[in-house]
Amino acid sequence: MALQSTKKCKNCGKWSHWNQQVNDTCEFCGHLLDEKAFLAQAKSEAEANEKKPYQINMELIKIYPTDSFLVKMGKRGVQAVQISFIAILSFILWFLTMLAG
Ligand SMILES: [Zn+2]
Repeated sequence: MALQSTKKCKNCGKWSHWNQQVNDTCEFCGHLLDEKAFLAQAKSEAEANEKKPYQINMELIKIYPTDSFLVKMGKRGVQAVQISFIAILSFILWFLTMLAG
C-alpha cells in the first residue's frame, strides 16, 4: 500500500493529498499547497536563466607567440571559423527564443 501524503491547505484549511512536489495544488480549491517552496524554486530557476540566457561555451583556439608564422595563420583561420560559428549559433538561438515567445 502506497503511503499517501496529505498537507493542510493554507487557503481553505482542508487536508489535501499531495505528492510532495512544489507545484502540487489543493484538491479542493486549487491553491498551491507549498507556495513558499514553489516561489523559491521559480525564483532560483529564473535566476539561473538570467545568469546565462543563451551562453555558448566555446573556447577559441589559442595562438602562442612561439607558434611559427604558418601555424599562426592556420590558427587565425580556425578562430575566424569559430567566431562565425558562434555568431550563427547565437542567431539560431535568438530566433528560436523569438519563436517560443
Ligand atoms: Zn484548498
